[in-house]
This record gives sequence, structure tokens and C-alpha cells, in this order.
Amino acid sequence: MQLFRDFAMLRARSCAGAQGRGPCAADCPAVNAQAQGRVAFDLLRISAMRSYRINLKTGPQTARRPADPHDAAVARIGPNAVIQTLRALRERESPEVARLVPVRAELPEAWPEGMIPEAWFVRLVEALRATLPAERAEAVLRQSGAYTADYVGRHRIPALFRALLRLLPARLGIPLLLTAFQRHAWTFAGSGRFQAEGAFPGTIVMQGCPTCRAEAAAPAAGHAGAYYEAAFEGLLRLAAAGVRVREVSCQGGHAALCRFEISLKDPALGEPPCASS
Ligand SMILES: [Zn+2]
Repeated sequence: MQLFRDFAMLRARSCAGAQGRGPCAADCPAVNAQAQGRVAFDLLRISAMRSYRINLKTGPQTARRPADPHDAAVARIGPNAVIQTLRALRERESPEVARLVPVRAELPEAWPEGMIPEAWFVRLVEALRATLPAERAEAVLRQSGAYTADYVGRHRIPALFRALLRLLPARLGIPLLLTAFQRHAWTFAGSGRFQAEGAFPGTIVMQGCPTCRAEAAAPAAGHAGAYYEAAFEGLLRLAAAGVRVREVSCQGGHAALCRFEISLKDPALGEPPCASS
């Protein structure tokens, strides 16, 4: 198992470094408490780096990236965007509204296996906003984003990596998750473009966000990214309980891009423990 190989390698390296010579015996006294602490931290760091391949697909594990995921004519999205929005709609609104909205969105009875057309989600958002007052429509989308994060966190991220993310300082865990977001953006952003940028904790930038395009009929308030705010925040909480994600500019409000600022209640939580002392 890779974790044990990492541990053996790090233990040998730490001991050799402490004694100034080659690899040591298993009972080497130089592996003192301080060195073991350093080994444990390095082990977490290496294991977490391996986890950059964390699968954050919002669609099935077998979904394959299309040749051009940014082509809106053929763009696909993970079915959770629609499934969780319908779930939140049923829970928050009357049965009549819950029946009417998917009809207005012209959602089909039969669904394909795997990824679904991005247009289904865009039409569902549009129908939601056409049916409900802005505040209630955005509340449904925010709830849907939280449910999506919960689903992806529980079903796509192995328990071992969830445990590692809880142990790592946010300064390591949040960039790891943002790298995973980047790799799987095509499954939740559809034809939109995703980029994480800026200094820790960073900013998420999206262009052509499915909930914020003109055809999704963005609300007058100017911020249309509640679904993504909640989804990003829910997943980043795996690395930092107090993390917040807020959309500070939105294409739905005529900004050039949607920008989601990540912040921590306590910035000190992002500081890694000192591994070199
Ligand atoms: Zn937006």
C-alpha cells in the first residue's frame, strides 16, 4: 500500500538525516519524537499531494471529458446539477410548483446514462426564475449547490482523503481541492470556463457560468451564482470548517466574469505547523 511505502521511505530518510549517515535499523534511537512528528507531517503532505487526482466529477465515475467541453452546442454536465435542484425545489416549494417548474424547463421523462445536456440545467434555472420570486429561486439554487457538494464529498472523495483534508492545514488542503476542481470543472461548469487564481485562499473565476448566462435569466440583484457559491463552499469545508465563498462580481450583473472570493474566518487556520524545527 502506497501509504506504508511513503511512511517507510520518510522514516528512513528522517533517521539517516538525524545521524548524518545512511538508512538506519528499525530500532534506531535517532527517530525521536521530533523526527516522528516531522515524518508524520511529511507523510500527510505527500499523501495529500497524491490525492490531487481526487475525483470530483459531479457525474458518474466513468464520464469522459468531451473533445471540446466549452462548445455550448454539445456541452454536458453532471446530472447532480438537475437532480439536486429538483430535490431542493420539492423540499422548499409547494407540490404544484415542484411539478410546474420541470414541465416549463421541458425536462424529458427518460434520462441518458451518465452526463446530461448542459442545456437541461440552464433551462431548469430559467424556469425556476420565471416561476418564483428572485429570493426564493436563488434559495432553491443555493440549497441545490449545498446538496451537490454533500453528494460529491461523500461519494467521490475517498474517506482516507477526507480524513487527510481534515488533518492538513487549510493552506495545503484548499489548494489541493482547487486543483481537483480545476481537473473536473467540465463536469460541473458545462461549457463554462473555470480558473482558480490569486494568493491563498484565492479566488475562483468562471466565464459562462451556467446559472449566470443571459439565457438563464439572471435575477435583477446582479448575483446569480448562488448554486456555485454553496457548492464550492461545501466542498472547501472539507479542508477548512470556517471557509466562506462569496460571489463578488457576476456576468449576470453584467461583469466580465463571475468571481467567487474564498475567505477564512480565522486566517491563522491556514498556517501550516512548522515542520523544520
Ligand atoms: Zn455569476
